[in-house]
Amino acid sequence: MKTHYDYIIVGSGSAGSIIATRLSENSTKSILLIEAGEDYRDFNSLPNDFKYGFGPELTNDWWIKSGNKNRSLFVANSTEEQKSPMLIPRGKVVGGSSAVNAQIFLRGDPDDYNSWAENGNYEWSFEKCLPEFIKIENDLDFAGDFHGKKGPIQVRRHTKDEMTQDAIAFDEGFQSIGFPPTKDHNDPDSTGVGPLPFNTVNRIRQNAAMCYLNPIRSRKNLHLKSNSLVQKIIIKDSKAIGVEVIQNQKVSNFYSEETIICAGAIGSPHLLMLSGIGPAEHLKEIGINLINHLPGVGKNLRDHPQVNLTWGKKDSYIHEKQSLKRGVTIGLRYTATGSNSNNDMLIHNTATIFPSIYFGAHSKDKYSGIGMIVCLYLALGSGELKLRAPNPLIQPLLNYNYFQEEEDLRRMREGVRLALQVGENASYSKIISSIIKPSLQQINDDKLLNHWIKQNARTSHHISGTCKLGTEKDSMSVVNQYGKVHGIKNLRIADASIMPDCVRANTNLPTMMIAEKISQFISNGK
Ligand SMILES: Cc1cc2nc3c(=O)[nH]c(=O)nc-3n(C[C@H](O)[C@H](O)[C@H](O)COP(=O)(O)OP(=O)(O)OC[C@H]3O[C@@H](n4cnc5c(N)ncnc54)[C@H](O)[C@@H]3O)c2cc1C
Repeated sequence: MKTHYDYIIVGSGSAGSIIATRLSENSTKSILLIEAGEDYRDFNSLPNDFKYGFGPELTNDWWIKSGNKNRSLFVANSTEEQKSPMLIPRGKVVGGSSAVNAQIFLRGDPDDYNSWAENGNYEWSFEKCLPEFIKIENDLDFAGDFHGKKGPIQVRRHTKDEMTQDAIAFDEGFQSIGFPPTKDHNDPDSTGVGPLPFNTVNRIRQNAAMCYLNPIRSRKNLHLKSNSLVQKIIIKDSKAIGVEVIQNQKVSNFYSEETIICAGAIGSPHLLMLSGIGPAEHLKEIGINLINHLPGVGKNLRDHPQVNLTWGKKDSYIHEKQSLKRGVTIGLRYTATGSNSNNDMLIHNTATIFPSIYFGAHSKDKYSGIGMIVCLYLALGSGELKLRAPNPLIQPLLNYNYFQEEEDLRRMREGVRLALQVGENASYSKIISSIIKPSLQQINDDKLLNHWIKQNARTSHHISGTCKLGTEKDSMSVVNQYGKVHGIKNLRIADASIMPDCVRANTNLPTMMIAEKISQFISNGK
């Protein structure tokens, strides 16, 4: 096998699949795409859990149960009040987390990207990101200046007849207390309640590998090496020259003119630190030789913490046990009272309940109630990722550190109470009996509610920010606005880890947009 390439890309997830596709459009450049997980080369060979976004073919909660080789399962601290570790799944397969995710396809608020630009990263204003959002999608519902019709990823919203009964109650309930309806959560001016966009068509998940890589796999200049873990970036004289790869317990080296790390918000800082790039003190403590002191590596761990409210159901409410209807279809995006950040909260319906599985407990009967999920979409707080050992096979320590900030708790309390208010109104009275979690006593007392939130907060699976982009003035930034790692030549990062903040959207589409933009920076010599 060839050992020298123009570009090596580490990780073939939402970002890596796109970067490999775009860079290989230039037939004079050779590309090696290295992925730790399995490669299912076409749609037919995909296991059902990857093929379908929802439906009877899916194994129940497969992505969080132990023993599946197609995903990594990390353990993390969420809050001090939660004693069990929180489980963090990520896709470990060609397609990465885009192959296992829940397919909500949101762009975020224009202010997310404008704030990156205001901090000196002028390439990232919403105006400059919009063409990439448009390029990615084929929106089956909307056209016009803000939507694409020709992109590889199909996106649509569920119609009312495809929704569960509680989703209809959710829509009516939030409108009845004054929230405006919205048909399109991806319209830059939108706010309010309406059907969420999904990259699922005919129940099939439109993952990044299927939609980008599969149609161009025959390109002669693109090599894909699966089941191969990059354990180190090879750096000589402050320049990345290649990677050390372990496959079947055998280590081999591959060399490149430029290396692009797309290993995700856990994999990318992990690999940087294993290669000697990170906080000097911490690397010393772990016994890794320092190559470049970058204190921000692994810091600024961002996410959207969420809590699950559950109600008992009336006998007249019949769950869709065939799962032919999706359990989550509708959402409310709104601005918390007194907040300066537009659409900083998201609440969505959930027809079934599965609150404790995130903490390793057996999921009780998911059909025993009806839920709503309240998510903080722009948290002030952040956590961190550190190494446990200088060993690529030992997972890093993850501390999500939720709810250290009173302002985060305040907005969450308001969200929980808002959900309860709607759960008590006429639209829900036909289907629910009474609130189970949290109790009315907890809801009515700030202190008790804070405690309940901290005990139950869990991930929305949107880990990001652990190698944030920023100018050299920001000593905690890890890459510049072109994704180039500060202080090391020929090394970039392009994935969810470079977001300075977790955008007000589920992170798959924003990560794909990042990948489209960084591919262009590379091709244009920026
Ligand atoms: C269960 C779940 C549900 C989610 N639901 C949604 C949703 O509904 N909507 C949404 O927008 N987002 C959702 N997300 C989040 C979204 O999918 C991710 O933010 C996005 O896929 C991240 O893309 P990425 O390219 O940064 O990383 P990933 O897609 O995770 O890709 C990283 C890839 O790198 C590989 N890798 C890592 N380390 C190495 C190494 N050292 N060597 C070789 N390969 C390596 C991994 O195996 C993986 O394939 C969900 C995520 C999960 C896990």
